[in-house]
Amino acid sequence: GDARPRSSSLYQEALQHIVGGVNSPSRSFKAVGGGAPVFMKRGQGAYFWDEDGNRYIDYLAAYGPVILGHAHPHVTAAIVRAAENGTLYGTPTELEIRFARMLKEAIPSLDKVRFVNSGTEAVMTTIRVARAYTGRSKIIKFAGCYHGHSDLVLVAAGSGPSTLGIPDSAGIPVSIAHEVITVPFNDPKALDEALARWGDDVAAVMVEPIVGNFGMVMPQPGFLEALCGAARRNGSLVIYDEVITAFRFHYGAASTFAGLPAGTDYAAIEPDLTALGKIIGGGLPIGAYGGRAEIMSQVAPLGPAYQAGTMAGNPASISAGIACLEALSEPGTYERLDRLGAMLEEGLAAAAAQHGIPLTINRIRGALSTHFCSHPVTNYEEAQDTDGESFASFFRHMLAEGVCLAPSKYEAWFTTTAHTEADIAYTIEAANRAFARMK
Ligand code: PMP
Repeated sequence: GDARPRSSSLYQEALQHIVGGVNSPSRSFKAVGGGAPVFMKRGQGAYFWDEDGNRYIDYLAAYGPVILGHAHPHVTAAIVRAAENGTLYGTPTELEIRFARMLKEAIPSLDKVRFVNSGTEAVMTTIRVARAYTGRSKIIKFAGCYHGHSDLVLVAAGSGPSTLGIPDSAGIPVSIAHEVITVPFNDPKALDEALARWGDDVAAVMVEPIVGNFGMVMPQPGFLEALCGAARRNGSLVIYDEVITAFRFHYGAASTFAGLPAGTDYAAIEPDLTALGKIIGGGLPIGAYGGRAEIMSQVAPLGPAYQAGTMAGNPASISAGIACLEALSEPGTYERLDRLGAMLEEGLAAAAAQHGIPLTINRIRGALSTHFCSHPVTNYEEAQDTDGESFASFFRHMLAEGVCLAPSKYEAWFTTTAHTEADIAYTIEAANRAFARMK
Protein backbone atom coordinates (compact mmCIF):
# COMPACT_ATOMS: atom_id res chain seq x y z
CA GLY A 1 0.00 0.00 0.00
CA ASP A 2 0.86 3.68 -0.08
CA ALA A 3 2.89 4.58 3.01
CA ARG A 4 2.27 8.25 2.27
CA PRO A 5 -1.41 8.68 1.33
CA ARG A 6 -1.51 12.30 2.46
CA SER A 7 1.53 13.20 0.37
CA SER A 8 -0.19 11.57 -2.61
CA SER A 9 -3.42 13.51 -2.14
CA LEU A 10 -1.66 16.79 -1.33
CA TYR A 11 0.38 16.36 -4.49
CA GLN A 12 -2.79 16.00 -6.57
CA GLU A 13 -4.12 19.17 -4.94
CA ALA A 14 -0.83 21.02 -5.36
CA LEU A 15 -0.81 20.18 -9.08
CA GLN A 16 -4.04 22.14 -9.49
CA HIS A 17 -2.61 25.34 -8.03
CA ILE A 18 1.17 25.35 -8.15
CA VAL A 19 2.94 24.73 -11.40
CA GLY A 20 4.17 21.14 -11.36
CA GLY A 21 3.07 20.95 -7.74
CA VAL A 22 6.42 22.25 -6.52
CA ASN A 23 8.06 25.64 -6.05
CA SER A 24 11.45 24.45 -7.29
CA PRO A 25 11.82 21.74 -9.95
CA SER A 26 14.54 19.92 -8.00
CA ARG A 27 11.86 18.97 -5.43
CA SER A 28 9.87 16.94 -7.95
CA PHE A 29 10.48 13.20 -8.20
CA LYS A 30 10.85 13.40 -11.97
CA ALA A 31 14.49 12.26 -11.87
CA VAL A 32 13.70 9.24 -9.66
CA GLY A 33 10.78 7.72 -11.55
CA GLY A 34 8.07 10.30 -10.86
CA GLY A 35 5.11 10.27 -8.52
CA ALA A 36 4.30 12.33 -5.48
CA PRO A 37 7.16 13.97 -3.63
CA VAL A 38 7.02 13.67 0.14
CA PHE A 39 5.19 16.56 1.78
CA MET A 40 7.00 17.41 4.99
CA LYS A 41 5.20 18.88 7.95
CA ARG A 42 7.85 19.42 10.57
CA GLY A 43 11.61 19.49 10.96
CA GLN A 44 13.47 19.16 14.23
CA GLY A 45 17.21 18.57 14.48
CA ALA A 46 18.24 15.84 12.05
CA TYR A 47 14.66 14.69 11.47
CA PHE A 48 11.68 15.40 9.26
CA TRP A 49 8.12 14.25 9.83
CA ASP A 50 5.88 14.02 6.79
CA GLU A 51 2.14 14.68 6.56
CA ASP A 52 1.43 11.01 7.31
CA GLY A 53 3.53 11.06 10.49
CA ASN A 54 6.48 9.10 9.03
CA ARG A 55 9.86 10.13 10.40
CA TYR A 56 12.97 10.56 8.24
CA ILE A 57 16.63 11.20 8.93
CA ASP A 58 17.31 14.22 6.75
CA TYR A 59 20.42 14.37 4.55
CA LEU A 60 18.86 16.86 2.13
CA ALA A 61 19.40 19.72 4.61
CA ALA A 62 17.27 21.86 2.27
CA TYR A 63 19.98 21.52 -0.43
CA GLY A 64 22.61 22.72 1.99
CA PRO A 65 21.62 25.61 4.24
CA VAL A 66 20.41 23.59 7.22
CA ILE A 67 23.89 22.64 8.50
CA LEU A 68 22.81 22.96 12.15
CA GLY A 69 19.73 20.79 11.64
CA HIS A 70 16.15 22.04 11.74
CA ALA A 71 14.95 24.59 14.28
CA HIS A 72 18.33 25.03 15.96
CA PRO A 73 17.51 26.85 19.24
CA HIS A 74 20.11 29.62 18.84
CA VAL A 75 18.92 30.41 15.31
CA THR A 76 15.25 30.14 16.27
CA ALA A 77 15.74 32.57 19.16
CA ALA A 78 17.44 35.05 16.81
CA ILE A 79 14.56 34.82 14.33
CA VAL A 80 11.95 35.31 17.06
CA ARG A 81 13.82 38.35 18.38
CA ALA A 82 14.03 39.79 14.89
CA ALA A 83 10.31 39.18 14.25
CA GLU A 84 9.40 40.98 17.47
CA ASN A 85 11.37 44.03 16.35
CA GLY A 86 9.89 44.18 12.86
CA THR A 87 11.18 42.06 10.00
CA LEU A 88 11.74 44.70 7.33
CA TYR A 89 12.78 48.35 7.58
CA GLY A 90 14.08 49.51 4.21
CA THR A 91 16.79 51.37 6.12
CA PRO A 92 20.32 50.36 7.01
CA THR A 93 20.79 48.58 10.35
CA GLU A 94 23.74 47.89 12.64
CA LEU A 95 23.06 44.16 12.25
CA GLU A 96 24.17 44.35 8.62
CA ILE A 97 27.52 45.82 9.65
CA ARG A 98 28.04 43.10 12.24
CA PHE A 99 27.30 40.40 9.72
CA ALA A 100 29.48 41.96 7.02
CA ARG A 101 32.37 42.04 9.52
CA MET A 102 31.83 38.39 10.40
CA LEU A 103 31.93 37.39 6.73
CA LYS A 104 35.04 39.48 6.07
CA GLU A 105 36.85 38.00 9.06
CA ALA A 106 36.06 34.49 7.84
CA ILE A 107 36.73 35.17 4.13
CA PRO A 108 39.71 37.52 3.73
CA SER A 109 39.18 38.14 -0.02
CA LEU A 110 36.04 40.14 0.81
CA ASP A 111 36.99 43.81 1.18
CA LYS A 112 33.40 44.86 0.60
CA VAL A 113 30.15 42.90 0.53
CA ARG A 114 26.55 43.44 -0.49
CA PHE A 115 23.62 41.36 0.79
CA VAL A 116 20.94 40.08 -1.56
CA ASN A 117 18.15 37.49 -1.25
CA SER A 118 19.35 34.36 -3.01
CA GLY A 119 22.36 32.66 -4.48
CA THR A 120 20.94 33.33 -7.94
CA GLU A 121 20.97 37.09 -7.31
CA ALA A 122 24.45 36.98 -5.83
CA VAL A 123 25.94 35.17 -8.85
CA MET A 124 23.99 37.24 -11.36
CA THR A 125 25.35 40.42 -9.84
CA THR A 126 28.96 39.27 -9.70
CA ILE A 127 28.72 38.82 -13.46
CA ARG A 128 27.31 42.31 -13.94
CA VAL A 129 30.04 43.78 -11.77
CA ALA A 130 32.76 41.87 -13.63
CA ARG A 131 31.37 43.11 -16.94
CA ALA A 132 31.22 46.67 -15.64
CA TYR A 133 34.77 46.50 -14.32
CA THR A 134 36.37 44.90 -17.38
CA GLY A 135 34.18 46.42 -20.08
CA ARG A 136 33.91 42.92 -21.60
CA SER A 137 30.80 40.81 -22.08
CA LYS A 138 31.54 37.05 -22.14
CA ILE A 139 31.96 34.65 -19.27
CA ILE A 140 33.49 31.20 -19.08
CA LYS A 141 31.87 28.61 -16.86
CA PHE A 142 32.32 24.88 -16.25
CA ALA A 143 30.02 22.10 -17.40
CA GLY A 144 27.72 20.78 -14.69
CA CYS A 145 28.32 23.66 -12.28
CA TYR A 146 25.02 25.27 -11.29
CA HIS A 147 25.02 28.97 -10.56
CA GLY A 148 21.33 29.72 -10.08
CA HIS A 149 18.74 30.42 -12.74
CA SER A 150 19.72 33.77 -14.24
CA ASP A 151 19.94 33.75 -18.04
CA LEU A 152 23.68 33.73 -18.46
CA VAL A 153 24.45 30.77 -16.25
CA LEU A 154 21.61 28.58 -17.57
CA VAL A 155 23.66 27.87 -20.62
CA ALA A 156 25.14 24.51 -21.52
CA ALA A 157 28.27 23.56 -23.36
CA GLY A 158 28.34 23.87 -27.13
CA SER A 159 29.52 20.93 -29.21
CA GLY A 160 33.24 21.33 -28.45
CA PRO A 161 35.50 22.93 -25.88
CA SER A 162 35.93 26.05 -27.97
CA THR A 163 32.35 26.71 -29.01
CA LEU A 164 29.86 29.17 -27.64
CA GLY A 165 27.06 28.02 -25.37
CA ILE A 166 23.56 26.81 -26.16
CA PRO A 167 20.56 27.74 -23.97
CA ASP A 168 19.82 25.23 -21.21
CA SER A 169 16.28 26.55 -20.83
CA ALA A 170 13.56 27.84 -23.08
CA GLY A 171 13.24 31.58 -22.90
CA ILE A 172 16.94 32.33 -23.11
CA PRO A 173 17.91 34.04 -26.36
CA VAL A 174 20.73 32.51 -28.37
CA SER A 175 22.33 35.96 -28.28
CA ILE A 176 22.71 35.58 -24.52
CA ALA A 177 23.94 31.99 -24.77
CA HIS A 178 26.60 33.30 -27.13
CA GLU A 179 28.00 35.34 -24.26
CA VAL A 180 28.91 32.13 -22.43
CA ILE A 181 31.59 29.53 -23.03
CA THR A 182 31.33 26.26 -21.12
CA VAL A 183 34.37 24.05 -20.60
CA PRO A 184 34.92 20.83 -18.59
CA PHE A 185 35.88 21.13 -14.90
CA ASN A 186 39.40 20.01 -13.96
CA ASP A 187 40.58 20.57 -17.55
CA PRO A 188 42.99 23.55 -17.66
CA LYS A 189 43.80 22.88 -21.32
CA ALA A 190 40.17 23.37 -22.37
CA LEU A 191 40.12 26.64 -20.46
CA ASP A 192 43.32 27.78 -22.18
CA GLU A 193 41.80 26.91 -25.56
CA ALA A 194 38.67 28.91 -24.81
CA LEU A 195 40.70 31.88 -23.64
CA ALA A 196 42.93 31.69 -26.71
CA ARG A 197 39.86 31.89 -28.92
CA TRP A 198 37.58 34.30 -27.04
CA GLY A 199 39.91 35.86 -24.48
CA ASP A 200 39.59 39.52 -25.48
CA ASP A 201 35.86 39.37 -24.74
CA VAL A 202 36.00 37.38 -21.49
CA ALA A 203 34.99 39.42 -18.43
CA ALA A 204 35.21 36.55 -15.95
CA VAL A 205 35.83 32.90 -15.32
CA MET A 206 33.13 31.61 -12.98
CA VAL A 207 33.60 28.40 -10.99
CA GLU A 208 32.49 26.43 -7.97
CA PRO A 209 36.02 26.04 -6.49
CA ILE A 210 34.85 22.79 -4.92
CA VAL A 211 31.92 21.49 -6.94
CA GLY A 212 28.68 20.68 -5.17
CA ASN A 213 26.37 20.37 -8.16
CA PHE A 214 27.44 17.14 -9.86
CA GLY A 215 28.37 15.45 -6.64
CA MET A 216 31.12 16.72 -4.39
CA VAL A 217 34.14 17.17 -6.64
CA MET A 218 37.53 18.45 -5.56
CA PRO A 219 39.61 20.54 -7.93
CA GLN A 220 42.61 18.45 -9.00
CA PRO A 221 46.04 19.62 -7.82
CA GLY A 222 46.98 22.76 -9.72
CA PHE A 223 43.59 23.28 -11.37
CA LEU A 224 42.55 26.39 -9.45
CA GLU A 225 46.07 27.83 -9.77
CA ALA A 226 45.95 27.25 -13.54
CA LEU A 227 42.46 28.72 -13.75
CA CYS A 228 43.37 31.87 -11.83
CA GLY A 229 46.68 32.29 -13.64
CA ALA A 230 45.08 31.97 -17.07
CA ALA A 231 42.24 34.33 -16.18
CA ARG A 232 44.64 36.97 -14.81
CA ARG A 233 46.99 36.82 -17.76
CA ASN A 234 43.93 37.39 -19.89
CA GLY A 235 42.68 40.36 -17.87
CA SER A 236 39.56 38.44 -16.80
CA LEU A 237 38.23 38.33 -13.26
CA VAL A 238 37.90 35.14 -11.23
CA ILE A 239 34.51 34.61 -9.62
CA TYR A 240 34.05 31.84 -7.08
CA ASP A 241 30.51 30.63 -6.57
CA GLU A 242 30.68 29.53 -2.93
CA VAL A 243 26.92 29.39 -2.44
CA ILE A 244 27.16 25.71 -1.41
CA THR A 245 30.73 25.58 -0.18
CA ALA A 246 31.30 28.56 2.13
CA PHE A 247 31.15 27.47 5.81
CA ARG A 248 30.51 23.89 4.67
CA PHE A 249 33.96 22.35 5.32
CA HIS A 250 35.44 24.82 7.77
CA TYR A 251 34.62 28.26 9.15
CA GLY A 252 35.36 30.12 5.94
CA ALA A 253 35.38 29.71 2.17
CA ALA A 254 36.43 26.71 0.10
CA SER A 255 39.20 28.88 -1.32
CA THR A 256 40.90 28.98 2.11
CA PHE A 257 40.03 25.41 3.12
CA ALA A 258 43.07 23.49 4.37
CA GLY A 259 41.61 20.34 2.80
CA LEU A 260 42.24 21.49 -0.78
CA PRO A 261 44.83 19.30 -2.57
CA ALA A 262 48.24 19.16 -0.89
CA GLY A 263 50.55 21.85 -2.19
CA THR A 264 47.75 24.30 -3.03
CA ASP A 265 49.14 27.83 -3.43
CA TYR A 266 46.46 29.71 -1.51
CA ALA A 267 47.75 33.16 -2.52
CA ALA A 268 47.49 32.15 -6.18
CA ILE A 269 43.88 30.98 -5.96
CA GLU A 270 42.32 34.00 -4.30
CA PRO A 271 39.24 35.13 -6.25
CA ASP A 272 38.35 38.66 -7.30
CA LEU A 273 34.67 38.18 -6.48
CA THR A 274 32.76 35.61 -4.44
CA ALA A 275 29.07 34.71 -4.40
CA LEU A 276 27.56 33.40 -1.17
CA GLY A 277 24.19 32.05 -0.04
CA LYS A 278 22.59 29.02 1.65
CA ILE A 279 24.38 28.46 5.02
CA ILE A 280 24.97 32.18 5.63
CA GLY A 281 21.19 32.69 5.97
CA GLY A 282 20.75 30.15 8.76
CA GLY A 283 17.69 28.79 6.93
CA LEU A 284 16.16 32.12 5.88
CA PRO A 285 16.48 33.53 2.35
CA ILE A 286 19.81 35.23 1.66
CA GLY A 287 22.63 35.74 -0.75
CA ALA A 288 25.71 37.94 -0.67
CA TYR A 289 28.50 38.90 -2.98
CA GLY A 290 31.76 40.65 -2.39
CA GLY A 291 35.41 40.98 -3.26
CA ARG A 292 38.13 43.47 -3.96
CA ALA A 293 37.20 47.02 -2.98
CA GLU A 294 38.31 48.41 -6.33
CA ILE A 295 35.95 46.07 -8.17
CA MET A 296 33.07 46.38 -5.70
CA SER A 297 33.21 50.16 -6.08
CA GLN A 298 31.52 49.59 -9.46
CA VAL A 299 28.28 48.94 -7.56
CA ALA A 300 25.61 51.62 -7.07
CA PRO A 301 25.47 54.04 -5.29
CA LEU A 302 29.29 54.27 -5.62
CA GLY A 303 29.54 53.21 -9.23
CA PRO A 304 27.62 52.66 -12.47
CA ALA A 305 26.64 48.99 -11.97
CA TYR A 306 23.10 48.92 -10.60
CA GLN A 307 21.87 46.36 -8.10
CA ALA A 308 19.14 46.80 -5.49
CA GLY A 309 16.67 44.86 -3.32
CA THR A 310 13.62 45.65 -1.18
CA MET A 311 14.27 42.62 1.02
CA ALA A 312 18.08 42.80 0.91
CA GLY A 313 19.77 42.78 4.31
CA ASN A 314 16.47 42.33 6.12
CA PRO A 315 16.94 41.95 9.88
CA ALA A 316 15.38 38.48 10.02
CA SER A 317 17.73 36.89 7.48
CA ILE A 318 20.74 38.75 8.85
CA SER A 319 19.92 37.75 12.44
CA ALA A 320 19.51 34.11 11.43
CA GLY A 321 22.78 34.28 9.54
CA ILE A 322 24.68 35.75 12.47
CA ALA A 323 23.27 33.12 14.82
CA CYS A 324 24.13 30.33 12.38
CA LEU A 325 27.74 31.48 12.02
CA GLU A 326 28.03 31.93 15.79
CA ALA A 327 26.95 28.33 16.29
CA LEU A 328 29.28 27.09 13.54
CA SER A 329 32.25 28.92 15.06
CA GLU A 330 32.05 26.83 18.24
CA PRO A 331 35.13 24.62 18.61
CA GLY A 332 34.74 21.11 17.26
CA THR A 333 31.89 21.79 14.81
CA TYR A 334 33.68 20.81 11.64
CA GLU A 335 35.63 17.96 13.26
CA ARG A 336 32.27 16.53 14.27
CA LEU A 337 30.78 16.92 10.76
CA ASP A 338 33.92 15.28 9.39
CA ARG A 339 33.62 12.35 11.80
CA LEU A 340 29.97 11.80 10.88
CA GLY A 341 30.82 12.05 7.18
CA ALA A 342 33.68 9.56 7.52
CA MET A 343 31.48 7.09 9.37
CA LEU A 344 28.80 7.40 6.68
CA GLU A 345 31.32 7.00 3.85
CA GLU A 346 32.91 3.92 5.39
CA GLY A 347 29.57 2.28 6.15
CA LEU A 348 28.06 2.96 2.72
CA ALA A 349 31.22 1.77 0.93
CA ALA A 350 31.31 -1.46 2.96
CA ALA A 351 27.59 -2.11 2.41
CA ALA A 352 27.86 -1.53 -1.35
CA ALA A 353 30.93 -3.77 -1.60
CA GLN A 354 29.20 -6.51 0.37
CA HIS A 355 26.32 -6.51 -2.10
CA GLY A 356 28.55 -6.16 -5.16
CA ILE A 357 27.11 -2.78 -6.10
CA PRO A 358 29.61 -0.44 -7.76
CA LEU A 359 29.61 2.83 -5.83
CA THR A 360 31.99 5.78 -6.01
CA ILE A 361 31.79 8.01 -2.97
CA ASN A 362 33.20 11.52 -3.08
CA ARG A 363 33.42 12.95 0.43
CA ILE A 364 34.61 16.30 1.62
CA ARG A 365 34.23 16.49 5.40
CA GLY A 366 30.51 16.35 6.24
CA ALA A 367 29.32 16.38 2.62
CA LEU A 368 29.41 13.36 0.33
CA SER A 369 28.01 12.16 -2.95
CA THR A 370 27.21 8.61 -4.01
CA HIS A 371 27.69 7.73 -7.66
CA PHE A 372 26.49 4.36 -8.94
CA CYS A 373 29.52 3.59 -11.09
CA SER A 374 32.98 2.07 -10.75
CA HIS A 375 34.98 4.99 -12.18
CA PRO A 376 36.13 8.11 -10.33
CA VAL A 377 33.95 11.23 -10.66
CA THR A 378 36.10 14.29 -11.34
CA ASN A 379 33.97 16.13 -13.91
CA TYR A 380 30.41 16.38 -15.17
CA GLU A 381 30.80 13.79 -17.92
CA GLU A 382 31.86 11.18 -15.38
CA ALA A 383 28.99 12.18 -13.09
CA GLN A 384 26.51 11.80 -15.95
CA ASP A 385 27.93 8.40 -16.86
CA THR A 386 26.48 6.73 -13.76
CA ASP A 387 23.49 4.46 -13.22
CA GLY A 388 20.49 6.72 -12.64
CA GLU A 389 18.10 3.78 -12.33
CA SER A 390 20.13 2.28 -9.52
CA PHE A 391 20.16 5.64 -7.80
CA ALA A 392 16.38 5.97 -8.20
CA SER A 393 15.85 2.51 -6.76
CA PHE A 394 18.23 3.22 -3.86
CA PHE A 395 16.53 6.57 -3.22
CA ARG A 396 13.08 4.95 -2.98
CA HIS A 397 14.25 2.11 -0.74
CA MET A 398 15.96 4.63 1.55
CA LEU A 399 12.81 6.74 1.72
CA ALA A 400 10.85 3.65 2.74
CA GLU A 401 13.48 3.09 5.44
CA GLY A 402 13.01 6.63 6.73
CA VAL A 403 16.08 8.23 5.19
CA CYS A 404 15.55 11.37 3.13
CA LEU A 405 17.99 12.13 0.30
CA ALA A 406 17.73 14.62 -2.55
CA PRO A 407 15.79 13.09 -5.49
CA SER A 408 18.71 13.44 -7.90
CA LYS A 409 21.80 11.34 -8.54
CA TYR A 410 23.87 14.52 -8.71
CA GLU A 411 23.07 15.90 -5.27
CA ALA A 412 25.17 15.55 -2.15
CA TRP A 413 24.25 14.13 1.23
CA PHE A 414 24.81 16.69 3.96
CA THR A 415 25.45 15.69 7.54
CA THR A 416 24.46 18.34 10.09
CA THR A 417 25.56 19.06 13.64
CA ALA A 418 22.23 17.56 14.70
CA HIS A 419 22.98 14.07 13.33
CA THR A 420 24.14 11.53 15.90
CA GLU A 421 26.36 8.47 15.52
CA ALA A 422 23.19 6.42 16.04
CA ASP A 423 21.52 8.18 13.09
CA ILE A 424 24.50 7.35 10.89
CA ALA A 425 24.55 3.74 12.10
CA TYR A 426 20.84 3.39 11.32
CA THR A 427 21.37 4.95 7.89
CA ILE A 428 24.10 2.39 7.11
CA GLU A 429 21.82 -0.49 8.16
CA ALA A 430 19.08 0.97 5.98
CA ALA A 431 21.51 1.22 3.05
CA ASN A 432 22.47 -2.42 3.59
CA ARG A 433 18.84 -3.46 3.30
CA ALA A 434 18.33 -1.15 0.30
CA PHE A 435 21.33 -2.61 -1.55
CA ALA A 436 20.13 -6.15 -0.75
CA ARG A 437 16.74 -5.42 -2.32
CA MET A 438 18.29 -3.78 -5.37
CA LYS A 439 20.12 -6.92 -6.51
N1 PMP B 1 25.18 28.65 -6.86
C1 PMP B 1 25.31 27.39 -6.43
C2 PMP B 1 26.67 26.77 -6.41
C3 PMP B 1 24.18 26.69 -6.02
O1 PMP B 1 24.32 25.41 -5.63
C4 PMP B 1 22.92 27.32 -6.03
C5 PMP B 1 21.65 26.62 -5.56
N2 PMP B 1 21.68 25.26 -5.50
C6 PMP B 1 22.85 28.63 -6.47
C7 PMP B 1 23.99 29.27 -6.87
C8 PMP B 1 21.53 29.36 -6.50
O2 PMP B 1 21.12 29.69 -5.22
P1 PMP B 1 19.57 30.01 -4.92
O3 PMP B 1 18.83 28.73 -5.11
O4 PMP B 1 19.59 30.52 -3.50
O5 PMP B 1 19.16 31.06 -5.89
